[in-house]
Amino acid sequence: MTASLPRVAGFAGAEVGRHDTLTTNCTSDTTAPADLSFSPGPVLLLGAPGVGKGTQAQLLVAKHGIPQISTGDILRAIRNDPSKVQTPEGSEAKRLMDQGLLVPDDLVNKLVSKRLTEPDTARGFILDGFPRTLPQAEWLDRHLVSNSNGTLPVVAISIVAAYDQLARRITGRRTCPVCRSIYNIYTNPPKVDGICDCEGAALTQRSDDTESVFTERLKTFEEQTAPVVAHYRALGRFEEADGDQDVDAVNAAIEKALVHLRNGQLG
Ligand SMILES: [Zn+2]
Repeated sequence: MTASLPRVAGFAGAEVGRHDTLTTNCTSDTTAPADLSFSPGPVLLLGAPGVGKGTQAQLLVAKHGIPQISTGDILRAIRNDPSKVQTPEGSEAKRLMDQGLLVPDDLVNKLVSKRLTEPDTARGFILDGFPRTLPQAEWLDRHLVSNSNGTLPVVAISIVAAYDQLARRITGRRTCPVCRSIYNIYTNPPKVDGICDCEGAALTQRSDDTESVFTERLKTFEEQTAPVVAHYRALGRFEEADGDQDVDAVNAAIEKALVHLRNGQLG
């Protein structure tokens, strides 16, 4: 059997390899052709750890035929792929990362702005991990107005779920070390306790998938995103989607919020 990575891995943003419960164990999913009749424009997708943001981003990407732009992915590419370092911004970012230093906001902004010049972003894109701060959100608003003709403004959609639900998704997560299938002992258990359905390997739990680590990550997330949420809410460009549902229902809630936000701008 050929081992394959869960498809969501490429969308994990700044948190390499961290993702939420998927239902793609042992199977390759069938993807419908993208719907090109609706232009989503720039969409900032927000969600606490465990809420399934990576999965939902992947569904939006597939449905609308737009890219996901993750600052984590951009920085990782600069660090790992020499061909990405041929710009002054790229080589400066690499120099800082090689020294273990943070890449400052204004440099991240430049890297994002370069990515947004690529033609695949014309109908929209999903933003992941950016803007992370209020100054970045304000920069992005100005940038989109000044650099493009008729581009829609950013809308933000936050996937929200109850604390207990999120905690169960994190603490119940088990992974197959062989085929990388992801299970959840509460919501998506293997047929036999602790054993992968695909090849019978013993499932493992990440050492940081504990409630105390989760609580700390949730607190950090809420503190970091509060000013960004307040920014888009004040501009009437923010909606919440109920994340306490199955994957398809959450996806439908996000699509509904997106259409509502875009139609609101027309009227
Ligand atoms: Zn397996």
